[in-house]
Amino acid sequence: MEACANRCSSCNFNLNASKWAQVLVPGCLHGYHLSCALQASEPRRPGVEAPNGNADDSGPRSCATCAELLLSEVDGVRMLYKECSEELHRRDPTDLELFRTVEIKQGRETSPLRELPRSILCLQGLRCLDITGHPLVRVPPEIRLLTSLKRLCFVSTEITELPEELGELQNLQQFVVSCCPLRCLPESLCKLVRLWDFYFDGNQLRELPEQYPPLVNGLKVSGNLLRQIPEAVGGLQDIKCIRAYANKLEALPDSICQLTNVGEMSLQGNRLQHLPQQIGSLQNLQYLSLHDNLLRTLPESILELSELRWLYLYNNHLQDLPRGLTTRLQQLERLLVETNPLSEAAVADLIQSGGSLRVLGLDTEQASRVDPDSLPPWVSVGWMLPWYRLYAKLQPASQLKRRQGVEPVRGHLPATPENDVLVVAFAASQAEPEWLGVLSQVYSGDVSVAEAELQISMDDMGKFSGLFRALHERELQEDGSDEDLERLASTCWLSAPPHSSSRQNGEALQDFDVLTLCDTGAQWYTDVSEREQLEVERRLREIVPRYKRVILLGVSMGGFAALSNSHLAHSVLVFGPQTDLTLSHLRPGFSPEDLVRMSDNLRSRVQQALSQGVHFQYHVGAEDHLAYARRVPLPRSCFVVHPVEGRIARLLERAGILWPLLIRSIAREQRLARGASGRCGSGWNG
Ligand SMILES: [Zn+2]
Ligand SMILES: [Zn+2]
Repeated sequence: MEACANRCSSCNFNLNASKWAQVLVPGCLHGYHLSCALQASEPRRPGVEAPNGNADDSGPRSCATCAELLLSEVDGVRMLYKECSEELHRRDPTDLELFRTVEIKQGRETSPLRELPRSILCLQGLRCLDITGHPLVRVPPEIRLLTSLKRLCFVSTEITELPEELGELQNLQQFVVSCCPLRCLPESLCKLVRLWDFYFDGNQLRELPEQYPPLVNGLKVSGNLLRQIPEAVGGLQDIKCIRAYANKLEALPDSICQLTNVGEMSLQGNRLQHLPQQIGSLQNLQYLSLHDNLLRTLPESILELSELRWLYLYNNHLQDLPRGLTTRLQQLERLLVETNPLSEAAVADLIQSGGSLRVLGLDTEQASRVDPDSLPPWVSVGWMLPWYRLYAKLQPASQLKRRQGVEPVRGHLPATPENDVLVVAFAASQAEPEWLGVLSQVYSGDVSVAEAELQISMDDMGKFSGLFRALHERELQEDGSDEDLERLASTCWLSAPPHSSSRQNGEALQDFDVLTLCDTGAQWYTDVSEREQLEVERRLREIVPRYKRVILLGVSMGGFAALSNSHLAHSVLVFGPQTDLTLSHLRPGFSPEDLVRMSDNLRSRVQQALSQGVHFQYHVGAEDHLAYARRVPLPRSCFVVHPVEGRIARLLERAGILWPLLIRSIAREQRLARGASGRCGSGWNG
């Protein structure tokens, strides 16, 4: 076989790295289309002819150097053949995506990668390399050979540092290192002249570079250990979004006020004591999150943010606010100010009728400073539990969207709550408690429990197959690739007839209490060294015995928290939760040991809860999240697999499925509470 750099040594057609990825074998310099190399590396059954018509003793495998690279199970092309996503086998690939969860879902054997395979470094023309969920410990300097890369992602790996050679990847546009214990960024990043996506969320970065690539249009560095943002960021005129929440920022550079294209600024969960005076020059700012900081005052210029729609200020030290926030900011829709020692004058000013304002969040102390009759229905009042840096707002569901005649709650937390059932809603995002909208819908009083039951029908696997076929235009594989679906799919939703607005006969849901939790520190409601001590479990233990029945609710990270505390509840309802942080796509940037410990804790708590008879309902889409479902020791009857892909809770909400599900669960607990003799709190293991 003759070495010819321009022709594929397998199919003999031209090689062209600008069209598709190709392997150039070091040593012999034989070249292959990646698809041809994958085919050649395919394990052959004895007696079967090779796909290209060659017998086994000729073709690529006849060159010893080629054969070694093609057939190595450890770092060769065969390894890629086994581990890569399905897409790689379907077309001439330019993208290489190694997701550990995809492999789990498809029932293939996983081999966690600790090193970047040699065969990947031989790929010319590779456009995208994405390694997710593998315990990769380093990126070798040879990464500079992949000069065609436009997108490079390392998500949920164990990388702690990056080589300076990355600066040589001149075509790189997107660079993501997320959910890794990464401690610093290479100085050479500023040489990436085409880079626009600067995405280093959830790592352990202590500082940012002093210089930046010129085209960066988003700074995404949340969940690190940053103390400051360099002044140089002010020179990035294209920046539209700054996400630096859950760090240790003490101040912002004044230059940040020059970023007039910024639409979103998420700075919650830091240690900011003041803001730059000129913040009002951010004329396109729509979303400003400043909650959970140490702010004592806000600059007057904040009143000039004419496009501002959301302003979150809860958990600060604000005694006063610039006058006219709700009247002068004409676009403002949501304003949360709980847990600030606001003066009477400040509260009185806020409740002046605002143009677009839909929600103003107050705590009971703030509300007590004004006449309760003067509070408009869009003011949502609740008790803020002193749970350190967590947002922990307790309120009856009837307060979420107060109807005419419903008085706002006031005074101290009553010794005994009026309602029997508590719903603890763990937020998945650091922005706001996301469950309030749907929970207020649940307690709208418009729908009877019986009617909610009609909205949703669960059925058996036979119908699931039919629905799967309709949605995905293929049969559910009974053996092999889809076996997890079958194993897990005990039930699924089938239809959601639009509910009538008129209330039918039957009992409506009674009022229940809602405790909304939001972990602005992005530490997954968990305590590890170097982060804040939240003590979520201890605090929950104190509040839970006040109720007869307790339901925990959560999506994704919130689902992780709900499962991790399931031993404290009677019912747990989760939607696409993360369960095993050693491989999940989304996780905090903690040490590998902490991630193992947190995942083990979740499993043992779920086991404990099962032995206590806790009722679980685990909703998951028919996609990657199934891999996480497999990692939880729950019996099959707990899973509801929905034949959809994407963000499950949001899809269910849009399909009109979420609220009947919630009504059903809450009604069940209310029935049991009526039957239950006393409040709980006894009989639990310490
Ligand atoms: Zn070829
Ligand atoms: Zn060769």
